[in-house]
Amino acid sequence: MAETVVWRADVVLTEPNTQLFDAEIVTQNSVIQEVRPRTALGNDTVRDLGRAILMPGLVNVHTHLDYTAMRGAVEDVSFFPWIRGLTERSAVLTPDDWLASATWGAAECAAGGVTTIGDCTPTGRAAEAAATVGLGGVIYQELFGIDPGGQTVTESLSELQLKLNKIGAICSGTPLRPGVSPHSPYTVRRELLQAVAQFARTHDLPICIHAAESLPECQLVRNGEGEIAESLRRRSINWKPPGLTTVQYLDDCGLLGDSTLLVHGVQSSASDLLITQRSGLAWAHCPRSNAKLGNGVAPLGLLGSRIGLGTDSAVSSNTLDLFEEMRFAVYMQRANRRQIETMGARDIVSMATQGGASVLNISGRTGRLEPGSSADFCAISLNSISCQPAYDACSALVYSCSARDVLLTLSGGRVIYDAAIGSDPMERYPGLNMRKTYEALQNAVSRIRNWKSPKTSKAD
Ligand SMILES: [Zn+2]
Repeated sequence: MAETVVWRADVVLTEPNTQLFDAEIVTQNSVIQEVRPRTALGNDTVRDLGRAILMPGLVNVHTHLDYTAMRGAVEDVSFFPWIRGLTERSAVLTPDDWLASATWGAAECAAGGVTTIGDCTPTGRAAEAAATVGLGGVIYQELFGIDPGGQTVTESLSELQLKLNKIGAICSGTPLRPGVSPHSPYTVRRELLQAVAQFARTHDLPICIHAAESLPECQLVRNGEGEIAESLRRRSINWKPPGLTTVQYLDDCGLLGDSTLLVHGVQSSASDLLITQRSGLAWAHCPRSNAKLGNGVAPLGLLGSRIGLGTDSAVSSNTLDLFEEMRFAVYMQRANRRQIETMGARDIVSMATQGGASVLNISGRTGRLEPGSSADFCAISLNSISCQPAYDACSALVYSCSARDVLLTLSGGRVIYDAAIGSDPMERYPGLNMRKTYEALQNAVSRIRNWKSPKTSKAD
């Protein structure tokens, strides 16, 4: 029996340029049937959200849900001590810790209006977490391997295959699909990058990789100099610089195509833009992470036309709040270019919805409120003092609202967050026991808190 539900609000934003006042979305099971002006249907058959904006579910194209438990654990140090700090603390976490951490992050996404993610996971736990909470998108299994003296390429790929089998089984029957993520040019060596590119083509898997994020990364690839190059030399790893930009190098390794998502692009150049356009690749723009870690401001004009917005992990930007990310993205572009016209509220709402869907190659399914699309949407209250008055929906969402104003999130027709359920934030996830997850998270937190710095670091 098909279940039909009507969701009503003062404003329905079907896409950034179309706001309907006093309108309704009709869903049937997991799909949007109709978006229409308010009807005479009574409240017994309608969920009326009142003074709120109903909009497409947000798409966070770059997260690491696994790392949510480390939010705030390593702060105010430069990029490489920061990454090392995370790696070292990761070693003390158990599989249950990782699951609690990832589930906490997935719940934060749902509470912030996010219905779709592109997540890079070293443990695979993010797949379980996203499926449990009800998110869609791509779960990229991460892999590392810079040291030729470590695992062979064959061993790395066999391990990757086993991990992908697990993720594939979890994703089956959900709006999630698996992908692969060789972490970065400085943590995966050339022959492994080439082998992963071939592997992804053979198995029709999307690829995600951090690229052109920091100056030391670009110095390494360009001429074998800088902080990362020195770190590799200290570890006696003989890494031959290809003398290229990162994007040229990844192209050379065969990694680039229309199923490839590159993350950051702060150091992207005009010559990289030609490769971006030719290959059809997409970029994840993570402005808060880039700023907080002192890496800079990505030149959006050099990243082509397929750009989605990402928060990166809760370790990089502390919250998975895509509203804050949208606001910051606009401010940073304007400040950097000293120009208002650089980017506006509609542009960034588009990037955080249909842009993200395009980046993850699921445009036909989500990103707009239209008949036939998956019922992925969220309702944002305009009742808080700081959200009134609200003359324009996009401006209010970007410049006044935050994730804390989200009232309701639906993913594939399933309510995954509902602020009306109760005053306790942990009870707002239908069917989930977030109190139990919180208790499990505390085990991870105490292990991270009690972690002691090793006398000599392997990563250095
Ligand atoms: Zn990342």
